[in-house]
Amino acid sequence: MDYYAIRNRLNRIVHEKLRADHGDTAITREPVVSTFTGYNFGDREVAADPLQAIKEADRIADVARSIANDYATDARSHGRGWDEIADAFGITTGKSDDPAIEAYQRVAGEGWSSTTSWRCACCAERVTDRGPWNPHPSDNESGHADDCARHQREISAYERRRDGYDQDRADGPDWDMDL
Ligand SMILES: [Zn+2]
Repeated sequence: MDYYAIRNRLNRIVHEKLRADHGDTAITREPVVSTFTGYNFGDREVAADPLQAIKEADRIADVARSIANDYATDARSHGRGWDEIADAFGITTGKSDDPAIEAYQRVAGEGWSSTTSWRCACCAERVTDRGPWNPHPSDNESGHADDCARHQREISAYERRRDGYDQDRADGPDWDMDL
């Protein structure tokens, strides 16, 4: 389904909603006339009151956003990271300091106490997700079963990254020159 097919379908939903709420007079017809040739392509349906149509179309955008958010928590449930979700949202490092945090805030809100939650597909427990603020997975997620393989795997991955970082520092900075 291409952009125009989706647009037409959503436009029909806007009109349906206007008819349901305000009656048949909420929708009227207007001719589609070419601005170049004056050719009349026939009629199309339009909202009688554009302001009502704005309100309904905007509500549909909100609904679509909430579907995306539901799928974001679903992705978290299945072990996908906020960085991957940011990617799916089209949030890139060029647009945001930290795409993973921006993706999280889209879903959970921006306040300090914001959280979201999902059922872990690995241990089946409900997990509270406080967002990708801290590098340690246990700081960000609580509620996994003690023996949750996914959570343990994420902790090990974090520890490997941290140890690698410590090792880099122990090796000293990289500015030695060959003399
Ligand atoms: Zn789990």
